[in-house]
Amino acid sequence: MANYDVIVIGAGPGGYVAAIRCAQLGLKTACVEGRETLGGTCLNVGCIPSKALLHASHQLHEAEHNFAKMGLKGKSPSVDWKQMLAYKDEVIEGNTKGIEFLFKKNKIDWIKGWATIPAAGQVKVGDDLHEAKNILIATGSEVSTLPGVEIDEKIVVSSTGALELPKIPKKMVVIGAGVIGLELGSVYKRLGSDVTVIEFLDAVTPGMDGEVQKTVQRMLKKQGLEFIMGAAVQGVTTKGNKATVAYKLRKDDSEATIEADTVLVATGRRPFTAGLGLEALGVEIAPRGQIKTDAHWQTNVKGIYAIGDAIEGPMLAHKAEDEGMACAEVLAGKHGHVNYGVIPGVIYTHPEVASVGATEEQLKADGRAYKVGKFSFMGNARAKAVFAGEGFVKILADKDTDRVLGCHIIGPAAGDLIHEICVAMEFGASAEDVALTCHAHPTFSEAVREAALACGDGPIHA
Ligand code: FAD
Repeated sequence: MANYDVIVIGAGPGGYVAAIRCAQLGLKTACVEGRETLGGTCLNVGCIPSKALLHASHQLHEAEHNFAKMGLKGKSPSVDWKQMLAYKDEVIEGNTKGIEFLFKKNKIDWIKGWATIPAAGQVKVGDDLHEAKNILIATGSEVSTLPGVEIDEKIVVSSTGALELPKIPKKMVVIGAGVIGLELGSVYKRLGSDVTVIEFLDAVTPGMDGEVQKTVQRMLKKQGLEFIMGAAVQGVTTKGNKATVAYKLRKDDSEATIEADTVLVATGRRPFTAGLGLEALGVEIAPRGQIKTDAHWQTNVKGIYAIGDAIEGPMLAHKAEDEGMACAEVLAGKHGHVNYGVIPGVIYTHPEVASVGATEEQLKADGRAYKVGKFSFMGNARAKAVFAGEGFVKILADKDTDRVLGCHIIGPAAGDLIHEICVAMEFGASAEDVALTCHAHPTFSEAVREAALACGDGPIHA
């Protein structure tokens, strides 16, 4: 029996960040992880491996499409899939080992195994019972599928299986045009697969700004991805090495099938709380499986807290991290806060897509008067020089006060550029504040400034 101030369950970006901050704030901290390695979904089978494959496949795309234009001639690279997977695994290992190092540095005990909570203040791992003043649940999420679609991780795969396919499929069907489906669909398209995305709704990337949704779909179509929109998948059957996906078009109820070597099910994730014993403890759960918490991440059971994918809100690593840090502050008797209005969302396709704050659709629904400042990357010298002139920056600002309410970017480094607007929004800045800030030339970020100028007297380069 060991006694702790805090035991964190789960070492994903929510859990490991919370554990590090707790330790930094002087709390005696342990973190339980059932997986062999630290880092959770994000480092092992999520953000990091998918970005490694996106990076490698993008290099191939550049070599095939842009090198010759710049006078770089010679044999195009060919794909050694085994080596690409080895590179991806090395990236994962480097990152998960990095968390191990941080745990040691901060004197956090890593308790290996699956945890249950027999009672508030107690965590059981195998035969060992540990005591803690507070328990923080950061158990994350798991893949969810559709009725009639069984994932075998061979022919019908989740994102986890898609990150380690034995070979590049000739034909891939992706069910779901959300972030994960579009990112992994892009990877395989660039590597030579025929990729068809089937989506239930009429637009890709649900929840994003409508103009962005249309542009993303158009750009991905141009790259060769095919889309079947407004289609409800009825089921997937497999025979030998092939799968058949049956779907029904919502507009006229017509039915059709499509064949594939690999079907990627990217229809979302659900909170993973099985085996913790929450029901017996009386921890309140929302209808969609998330653990309910108050504004300080405490559940209805005193001393039991929860963060990350296991609770409500967007399933994003940085949202989990922010909650981890803030909850640690609360556990140490300080003030922890997360501004849920300023959480960016990024899609790492090419070009990247990034968004923060309100969309035009939300502002219209709220009846809020707003103005739009938009600037195309075609007017950005740096973007044009690197064949990245497609896309735009769109800033939404309050019509009367000029306060920045949201920003939506499609274009080079969008996932990094968006943070200028996150900071502006945190400070309650106006579009004019952004427009009056000197931006280095030639950078992609000048497009953000031009969009801010477009909220006022107008951009210079348009
Ligand atoms: P998780 O990362 O899921 O970690 C939870 C950990 O808890 C797991 O390691 C699990 O083994 C452990 N655990 C669960 N139950 C127990 C138990 N009882 N005992 C012990 N251990 C337990 N988000 C982004 O922001 N950017 C991206 O680019 C991005 N890309 C993604 C790509 C893919 C393919 C996927 C699947 C997800 C991606 N995400 C991305 C989402 C991101 O991975 C999650 O939002 C994030 O990992 C959530 O963090 P978490 O700490 O809440 O949970």
